[in-house]
Amino acid sequence: MKKTIRDYDLNNKRVLIRCDFNVPIKDGKIVDDNRIVMSLPTIKYAIDKNAKVILFSHLGRIKEESDLVKNDLAPVAERLADLLGQDVAFSTKTRGKVLEEAVNNLKPGEVLLVQNTRYEDLDGKKESKNDEELAKYWASLGDVFINDAFGTLHRAHASNVGLASNLPNGVGFLVEKELNELSRLENPEHPFILILGGSKVSDKIGVIENLVTKADKILIGGGMAFTFLKAQGKNIGNSVVDEESLDFAKGILEKYPESIVLPTDVNAFEEFNNDANNKVKTLDELTSSDLGLDIGDETIKAFEEVLKDAKIVFWNGPLGVYEFEKCTRGTKAILSYLVKNNINTILGGGDIVASASELGYKDKVTHASTGGGATLEYMEGKELPGVSSIEDI
Ligand code: AMP
Repeated sequence: MKKTIRDYDLNNKRVLIRCDFNVPIKDGKIVDDNRIVMSLPTIKYAIDKNAKVILFSHLGRIKEESDLVKNDLAPVAERLADLLGQDVAFSTKTRGKVLEEAVNNLKPGEVLLVQNTRYEDLDGKKESKNDEELAKYWASLGDVFINDAFGTLHRAHASNVGLASNLPNGVGFLVEKELNELSRLENPEHPFILILGGSKVSDKIGVIENLVTKADKILIGGGMAFTFLKAQGKNIGNSVVDEESLDFAKGILEKYPESIVLPTDVNAFEEFNNDANNKVKTLDELTSSDLGLDIGDETIKAFEEVLKDAKIVFWNGPLGVYEFEKCTRGTKAILSYLVKNNINTILGGGDIVASASELGYKDKVTHASTGGGATLEYMEGKELPGVSSIEDI
């Protein structure tokens, strides 16, 4: 069990909180503030406990000067102030007099947001390489460090692992909830079913390797199913194939023939376009130009049959090209089935959460994880540096 923000007396303390404010920003406007909203419980708690609250976050990637303006965190300070209903000071600099004065001016219950931590990456990747001097400098600005940025737990950066190494520390409410939900999958109730979709097999190799013996079945849809189908010698028309992962797919199918369930029919499109002619076809019926962009009805039924007794489901990747309205049927049908049958379902970040959100299921499933890479690495059984750097109770 990790220490949490509840384990510290925050009264009058300078509390450094690593948040994940990596929100999409277009023309200086925040397009989706979900990540800011998710950070509120921890920030509000620190305010209520009379802490001087100092927030850190990265935004995008900083490789050259021209990345600075588009990844300026200033719009986040404004939105956060609206959401909190109180002023949020903003330090335009990640170090030096501007930042130090802003910290010194803070009174208990006030909030300061520090400029994008990755501004430090212009100077020899100091943030991303967890530079010791930088971590010690930032730590000197606080008394306690709280990590509430779930999406970066798989990274060892100065603003998470570096700060944790130099200050008394704990996790915030968002990270605590994520870890609690995901830990159910460590010793899952059975049947435990894994659902995988999306297009790239290579991203999911670690998850498959770690879970193929733990899960009772792995249902594979989306573009990645065609790599497995091709490995079986099936007709896949012109559907997407992750060539580099063909040997891996062959190996898994040979070693665990009973575990993997693949589509038998697909929604076939003449072109990669929502408005192209399309028809549900069995694999044998696919022409050499057909693209399978969603699972078909027979496959939906077969997946539901496997899921009917499931006690817990972990799902990563949509079952079709969810960006196309006509290709959301498979994902929607399975989401609906899981919700209707009250099956514990954990969505593993990224595109499946975006898809579930658009289809109105995000708040109906047991848990929709906020981390893409962090969730996958957790499911690969890897130790996350952002977690191991936090003190145990
Ligand atoms: P990934 O990043 O590997 O999880 O893949 C997510 C992407 O997979 C999404 O952008 C989907 O549009 C895409 N995808 C899902 N199903 C298919 C499919 N049948 N063919 C091509 N791309 C797909």
